[in-house]
Amino acid sequence: MINIYISFILRCFIHTQMFHSYTDIKKINPDSNLRLPGKKIFGNLDPEFIKQRREGLDDFIQKLITTPILSENPEVRTFLSLDNPRNVQQHLDPDQFTDSENMNGKDPNPVNLGPSEKSSVKPSDFEFLKVIGKGSFGKVLLARHKKESKVYAVKVLQKQAIMKRNEVKHIMSERNVLLKNVKHPFLVGLHYSFQTKDKLYFVLDYVNGGELFFHLQRERYFPEQRAKFYAAEMASAIGYLHSLNIIYRDLKPENILLDSKGHVVLTDFGLCKEGIEGMGTTSTFCGTPEYLAPEVLRKQPYDKTVDWWCLGAVLYEMMYGLPPFYSRDTAEMYDNILYKPLRLRTNVSSAARSILEGLLQKEKENRLGAKRDFPEIQGHDFFMDINWDELDKRKIQPPYNPNVSGQLDLKHFDPEFVREPVPASIGKYGSCKMVSASVVEADGVFEGFSYVPPSEDAFG
Ligand code: AMP
Repeated sequence: MINIYISFILRCFIHTQMFHSYTDIKKINPDSNLRLPGKKIFGNLDPEFIKQRREGLDDFIQKLITTPILSENPEVRTFLSLDNPRNVQQHLDPDQFTDSENMNGKDPNPVNLGPSEKSSVKPSDFEFLKVIGKGSFGKVLLARHKKESKVYAVKVLQKQAIMKRNEVKHIMSERNVLLKNVKHPFLVGLHYSFQTKDKLYFVLDYVNGGELFFHLQRERYFPEQRAKFYAAEMASAIGYLHSLNIIYRDLKPENILLDSKGHVVLTDFGLCKEGIEGMGTTSTFCGTPEYLAPEVLRKQPYDKTVDWWCLGAVLYEMMYGLPPFYSRDTAEMYDNILYKPLRLRTNVSSAARSILEGLLQKEKENRLGAKRDFPEIQGHDFFMDINWDELDKRKIQPPYNPNVSGQLDLKHFDPEFVREPVPASIGKYGSCKMVSASVVEADGVFEGFSYVPPSEDAFG
């Protein structure tokens, strides 16, 4: 509690200072919608009040940082100590990113980019603007390439966290998969990957229509036509991955984003399994509890049909608002997945119920897609009115437009992340002093990670 008060008092101080600069800031950019929270700041230590004020100030500061005309203004930069990474680090994010990249504010040592070191791409080429998401091993940040002024989503993973959890294979598989798939309209494209001593960086297309999950939670369930459109775009992406002998394995609403027009983009290739020929099988236990296929739960070998099960689970959730076989009690949910018959309420069409029954077959041999993979899904009655060629050309009008006003519009991202300050260590690659043994070890482990597409110079 004491800490909250200290932080509150500090913020009050910032706040008072802010008022001096506020009028000047409004002059620099009168259209910025910048609003400083109320002046009355002392005399009320009600936690709810403190929370509101704190959030108001955070919003204010974030708006300052992300409005280029303001963040580039010398007075604003001095006031916020934007050019002093150590200050920002200490005040805004003390524990998360204290690593060797952060020991020294300067930029003295070159980064080891591994064998594919053709590139001079490095973290300091980017201006990191916002945290837009969190995965198991690190954060996803909105970043602008300084020279190109193009905006990307940069996934930053902590090497040590990956190594601790023995996930190197998954991450390298994510990288390999991303390299292979850059050309599909519904899969996120990788522009670059590179590494510093402590972190791996994936530079991805920035997709800003929000997570499907975010929209689904807000609307509870989607009308059938809308669910069908998303399911068709996902099926097309999965069919394409299967044609490259890749199983996606982790289809779930959090990994399904919408782009600014409302088309599906699948991200997160951390769980993909490469090199599955024909109906070849694999048996690593992974996936997300709600969507685990029965064969995965039984620890039996599984094949590409596992993705059709997941498509069924996501389609079910889009239409009924909860995953199939759902229970708050995970053990009961597993039991339901393995043994409970699928019950489908009749508020969806018979074609929809039929495809759900086909996709959610507990025996993978009987599942829709088991014989001819993607063409079997395409040919199902449920998708009768989908023109697949048009779909792949992104010519079918999406049923919902996320209405984003520009590349920096973050309204569809979780405000909890967006409010979070960008860790100062990201974007720096400083001293290699005090590098721990495990980090040195990590360097070898991630050899070959760095990637720059041969045809692209800089950020073309
Ligand atoms: P991941 O680690 O891939 O699961 O990403 C964590 C979260 O970051 C996702 O659920 C998205 O909200 C966000 N995210 C990931 N990739 C992108 C991207 N290319 N563009 C925008 N947001 C992304």
